[in-house]
Formats: sequence, structure tokens, C-alpha cells
Amino acid sequence: MTITTIEKEKTGVLPELATNIQSGEAMVFCPKCKAIQSVFIQDRRLMPTRKFFQSGHSIYHDCGSTQPCRIYRDW
Ligand SMILES: [Zn+2]
Repeated sequence: MTITTIEKEKTGVLPELATNIQSGEAMVFCPKCKAIQSVFIQDRRLMPTRKFFQSGHSIYHDCGSTQPCRIYRDW
């Protein structure tokens, strides 16, 4: 019997990135104002980026959107 250990979520680790991106470039898309910007991910965390910030497990745009940005790979 195989038991899969599920690590308790670590604060600040982006779940969307956990399966896709550990490090590298990604695109974030703001659902409110449709802004798209490339950002850099390192160790599953958003690198400090103008206009976008990480809160908990999501990335938000500073336009006031209450919906988290979608994250895409850059290719
Ligand atoms: Zn926005």
C-alpha cells in the first residue's frame, strides 16, 4: 500500500507553480484589467516585481483587483 505524503502547504508557495514552474519566467494575467506581464519565479515564489505582488498562494495586480492573477508559462 502506497501512502502519498502530502506536505502541509508552505506559506508563500504558489500551488499553480508547484506543478509547472519551479524557477523561470512566467506570465501573469490580471482578470480585472487584462494586464499581462512576464514575471520571474524562483523556487516557486514570485520575485519582487513592479505592479504585481504575492499574497499567500496567489499573485495579485496592484490595480485593486480582488481576483488573483492567472499564471502561465512563458512558452
Ligand atoms: Zn489589474
